[in-house]
Amino acid sequence: MVVNGIGVALLLLLVGDFLATFAYHVPEHVFGQLHNRVHHSSDRSFIRYALLHRQPIALVNGFLSAAPYLAPVPWLWQLSPEGVLLGLGLAELHVIWRHRLEAGHNTPDGLQHLCQLICLTTPERHWQHHCNAKAAFGDIFTFYGPPARWWWGFLMRLKKYLRQQRRSSLA
Ligand SMILES: [Zn+2]
Ligand SMILES: [Zn+2]
Repeated sequence: MVVNGIGVALLLLLVGDFLATFAYHVPEHVFGQLHNRVHHSSDRSFIRYALLHRQPIALVNGFLSAAPYLAPVPWLWQLSPEGVLLGLGLAELHVIWRHRLEAGHNTPDGLQHLCQLICLTTPERHWQHHCNAKAAFGDIFTFYGPPARWWWGFLMRLKKYLRQQRRSSLA
């Protein structure tokens, strides 16, 4: 029962991070603007941004960033409701933890090595992404980084191609 719950929580994190990286995060960096403007700024709150700039669309973007973790919930709930709640809780805790560096908290060396071993994104690695939007994808798991980088390159080429097509159709 407990093992089942932990397995479901892990599955939620794996599926959630996969969908978040490939269906939201990378496409948003290539085609969108709001993630870069809001999440990569010093104030990461989509709600505050929507209120301050009177742009309710920012709320939609904020929801889309969380939606990948909610998408597998109806399926996984049937396997273990406790596992789903644990997975969502861990996902939220990881969001808080991976942004702690901005508040001046460094991760101890031992913990950094352990995270490297189990392919878990540390605040230091996530900070690399905040500094360079092309680098260190994979919000929770580092192994999504290399395929995400390839996906980023592919979508950039697609974007350029679509732009050229539009230009030539207007000429
Ligand atoms: Zn971040
Ligand atoms: Zn980003």
